[in-house]
This record gives sequence, C-alpha cells and structure tokens, in this order.
Amino acid sequence: PPLYKQRYQFIKQLVSKHKPKKVFAFAAKIADLGCADCKLLWMLKFCNCIEVLVGLDISEDVMKEKMHTLSPLPGDYLQPSERSLTIILYQGSVAVKDPCMLGFDMITCIELIEHLEANVLEKFEEVVFGFMSPTMIIISTPNSEFNPLLQIVTLFRHPDHKFEWNRSQFQNWAQETAARYDYTVQFTGLGIPPPGKDVGFCTQIGVFVRKFIKHVEVTQSEKYQDRVYKINIHIST
Ligand code: SAM
Repeated sequence: PPLYKQRYQFIKQLVSKHKPKKVFAFAAKIADLGCADCKLLWMLKFCNCIEVLVGLDISEDVMKEKMHTLSPLPGDYLQPSERSLTIILYQGSVAVKDPCMLGFDMITCIELIEHLEANVLEKFEEVVFGFMSPTMIIISTPNSEFNPLLQIVTLFRHPDHKFEWNRSQFQNWAQETAARYDYTVQFTGLGIPPPGKDVGFCTQIGVFVRKFIKHVEVTQSEKYQDRVYKINIHIST
C-alpha cells in the first residue's frame, strides 16, 4: 500500500494494541492534529474501543471536503450498538491552547510538524506536550536522508514544507522535547530503503509516552472558558 495508508494503518494497529484494559481505557479518546481531509479519523471510526475522536486543522476548506464520510451510515441506525462514539472537528491552530484538547489518551500528528514555521513549532511543543499532555503522542515526518531515493527535483518533498529533517535532527528534537515534558520516546518508521542503502525509513516516527500518570480533571469552568477553536461538526451516535 502507499505510504500514507501505511501511516494510517500504523496508528490503527497502535490503537488496537492499546485497547481499553479493564480498568484503564487507554485508547478511548483520540485526537488527530492536522487531520486534513479526515482520512485517518475515518479509519479510526471503525475501532470499537474509541469513544471520542477529534480532528483539528487550521484549514477549514480541506477539512470540509470529506467531512460527510464521518457521518453515521444508514446501517448504523438499523443496528444500534451499545457503543457510543462522538466525533468533533475543530478549526484552529496547534499553536494555541483550547481546553477541548485536555484529557486525551492519544494524539497523532501525521506529517504535520514539517509544515510549521520555527516559532509555531516551538508553540506546538508547549501546547501539545505541555498543555494537552496526552498519555501518548505519535509524530511522523519525512526523513530527508531518504530524499535522494525519491528522485525529487525540488528542495523538499512538498512546497509547503518549512523543513525536512534527517534522522539525527528529528531524534535530537524529539529527545529534547520528551525530556523537557517528561515523556519517553521510541523511534520507528515506514518505507524501507533498498538493500545496501543505509538511509533509514522514508517516514520517520516518534512514539512518545508520558512518564507519569496524570489525572487530568477538566473542571467545569475550564470546559467552557477560553474556547478558541471553532467547531465544524459534532456527531454523536
Ligand atoms: N495528517 C494528514 C495526513 O497524514 O494525511 C495531513 C497532513 S497535511 C500534509 C498537513 C496538514 O496540517 C494540513 O492539512 C494543514 O492545513 C495542517 N496544518 C498546518 N499548519 C497547522 C497548524 N498550525 N495547526 C493545525 N493544522 C495545521
């Protein structure tokens, strides 16, 4: 399958692996930052362990393109299940804090950080690791060492990329950020290079896990204060 599908599959497998344990619903609340056309959210909708799925993107237009695919299917009404799922899409930036992002088990950032200017990336660290502070954060980004194998003629893989990091640049950033916010990080990736080419994966991935269990109690006042993201769609089944 194409790499973008492998990335979504990777997340789906991670979610299944961390299925709610009896006492600890680990992957019940998931947010996808920079969710674009909501493809990952659409795939995750079929994971029965998920109770809340949230998407955030700065671009309302790209989010609206396929938003309808998240709506319940006629069959969902014919066969009502015990399970309830809430899907909410917000328009907003990862550089600003909104209390609606508190209390998540897992936050995914797939091919997002390379689209952020340096000052926005700094804010991102503070907002995602420091404020949202979910149990697990997954960040994927291109590995520039793989670029010569892609035969691209431009500097970066995509004109909107602000940077593309090699393995040590990504790992240094990830380790420093993890240390600053009390997370551990493990590295993996997708897209294996041909034999003999020691360039690493095409897509590099950091899986961050918070070191301490945090009891995020979202107070009523927090819930309704300082809302900055705009709600685009809210589906509850
Ligand atoms: N995660 C999706 C995927 O893997 O298919 C799409 C990644 S797309 C390459 C990057 C997305 O990040 C775009 O949809 C863009 O609008 C969004 N984005 C860029 N800057 C952002 C910001 N500051 N806050 C939230 N989203 C942002």
